[in-house]
Amino acid sequence: MKETKDHAALAEAFNADEPRVNWHDETLWFIRQKRDKAAYTIPDWELLRETASRIKHNVLSNLHDYLLQFEANAKANGIIVHWAADAREHNQIVHAILQKHKVDRMVKSKSMLTEECHLNEYLAENGVEVIDTDLGERIVQLAKEPPSHIVLPCIHKKKEEIGELFHEHLGTPAGMADPQVLTEAARQHLRETFLTRRAALTGVNFAVAETGEFVICTNEGNADMGAHLADVHIACMGIEKLVPKREHLGVFLRLLARSATGQPITTYSSHFKRPREGHELHLVLVDNGRSMQLGREDFRNSLKCIRCGACMNTCPVYRRSGGHSYHTAVAGPIGAILAPNLDIKKNADLPFASTLCGSCSNVCPVKIDIHDQLYKWRQVIVKEGYADTKKTLSMKAMTQAFASPTTFQLAGKAGRWFMRNMPFAVNNKLNPWYKQREMPAPPKESFGEWYLKNRKKKNE
Ligand code: SF4
Repeated sequence: MKETKDHAALAEAFNADEPRVNWHDETLWFIRQKRDKAAYTIPDWELLRETASRIKHNVLSNLHDYLLQFEANAKANGIIVHWAADAREHNQIVHAILQKHKVDRMVKSKSMLTEECHLNEYLAENGVEVIDTDLGERIVQLAKEPPSHIVLPCIHKKKEEIGELFHEHLGTPAGMADPQVLTEAARQHLRETFLTRRAALTGVNFAVAETGEFVICTNEGNADMGAHLADVHIACMGIEKLVPKREHLGVFLRLLARSATGQPITTYSSHFKRPREGHELHLVLVDNGRSMQLGREDFRNSLKCIRCGACMNTCPVYRRSGGHSYHTAVAGPIGAILAPNLDIKKNADLPFASTLCGSCSNVCPVKIDIHDQLYKWRQVIVKEGYADTKKTLSMKAMTQAFASPTTFQLAGKAGRWFMRNMPFAVNNKLNPWYKQREMPAPPKESFGEWYLKNRKKKNE
């Protein structure tokens, strides 16, 4: 398996391009502010968040029953339901459906689950060409990159770079970076693709247990276009996407778009209940570690996530390190609490990529205690021996220093002496803190020394 770099190393690579970092940071903060304005227009915003959180709590507490109810109703509606225990099984099921219909070219709308399962790569290895139809997804697909954000997949790319990409792949004029012209070029290219594909794969935003229907939210209408023009529609969903009743959709649809982009609602919120006459509708229910996460008491709330991306837009670390630095399908704070569940060793660095400021928990529309979970994952990772060796050793040294006043005072004295007389011993490339910051001037004395002197003076 390919070695992955850790978050700090990947963030450093992203930080090499300072103007891009500033622009990435500002753009996402702008979206965060749009979210705030949209939220403040709803007096019941906090009540909505609380309601959504409780509905999801109910779903997670009764997941087994809701899944069976949903399956029975979906089947009664004529949907062909499949169950996949993991990513491999999910990919095999999708491939088998395509093989049955002798399809080797498929359109796909945005689905983070298929990113998580690496479906595109799997199908490509098996001779199936997949065209992503969400504009942002198509851009990163042409660039041979993974999405860097769950709602805004190509947010790390400038329009000039997209212009170059389109010039190379879609034949737009060299140097053309007008977003309207580029979007029109993508539209023409995708329209042709839609008309010639017999199979379409979509994600699922919400599935309703009482009716067996599911809802897909897009701004571009690409999921509808794909699903309506193809003979076979395959929808893939994580098992946590359920809501008990149709009336609950109103709560989530009001929260989702406002939290994601500051819009009052996504342009298309389409309900799919049964296949059209003579067509097939498949639904793949995927576990892939979700039941394991459900069993982890401290982390089960992470399954409430509705993938709005608000926690990414607000996170000071995500905004300045870029989505690719998280080396996992879902980046940012939520990704950092989902990924260790899937592979704790490979993702042990991610819960540390946070300031624990709590801004993610404050904006989360389903009230996931994200920063608390990040902190708890750190404890699990250290306890189970997956923490970085350098970090483990330095923490042990700190523990020793803090446990003994004599060691603490001696260490402080030595540190101040070195900073004063041999600053290069601290201010060098080996010190990650120094890479981005000026070290402060060393104080003449420690607070303890100052306090002893001044208290004495006062008492004299
Ligand atoms: S954790 Fe909350 S804020 Fe982050 S993507 Fe999920 S629902 Fe949105």
